[in-house]
Amino acid sequence: MSPPHSPHRRQTLTALFACGVAGLAGVAPVRAEDAARRAPRWLELASTHTGEVLSVAYRSGAGLVGEALSGLQHLLRDHRNNQQHPMDVGLYDLLADLADRAGVEPRFQIISGYRSPASNAALHERSSGVAVHSMHLEGRAMDVRLHGVDCARLAQLALAQSRGGVGYYRRSDFVHVDTGRIRSWQG
Ligand SMILES: [Zn+2]
Repeated sequence: MSPPHSPHRRQTLTALFACGVAGLAGVAPVRAEDAARRAPRWLELASTHTGEVLSVAYRSGAGLVGEALSGLQHLLRDHRNNQQHPMDVGLYDLLADLADRAGVEPRFQIISGYRSPASNAALHERSSGVAVHSMHLEGRAMDVRLHGVDCARLAQLALAQSRGGVGYYRRSDFVHVDTGRIRSWQG
């Protein structure tokens, strides 16, 4: 399919595609994987730094919800200077799946989301545990706690997903997850 050339054409194509999918769902068996991708997904994120809480469905049956993604991106901003960066949606899916696996609602505390270059450099100077090229700089990492689930267990569940890096910080009691190379460490 050639790329759409105007917003109007894009809308038309989206509508056609949505109709096509809806039509198919009635007659053909839907693969579990496809059904999971279309199922609405939600997250509740609470920033430990700003006190902000956001509970949103970031996927609807029709796909990603732009307004919800903007809200999540804002909550996950660098609280030191309010800089924002697009976040990898794969992180949201990972969090939602981890809560599913743990059998709890997807309510997370956010210790760190996006980290601007200035903040990362300052943190790196103070702590050898902060990487120079942190995945937080790319909007591909979060440091989290899951409500009702011990962080050691959350780290185990994240490791079992094999979707990227997992760092378990026992003393500070949080888990770092990212969508980079599969690797693990303890802080
Ligand atoms: Zn981290």
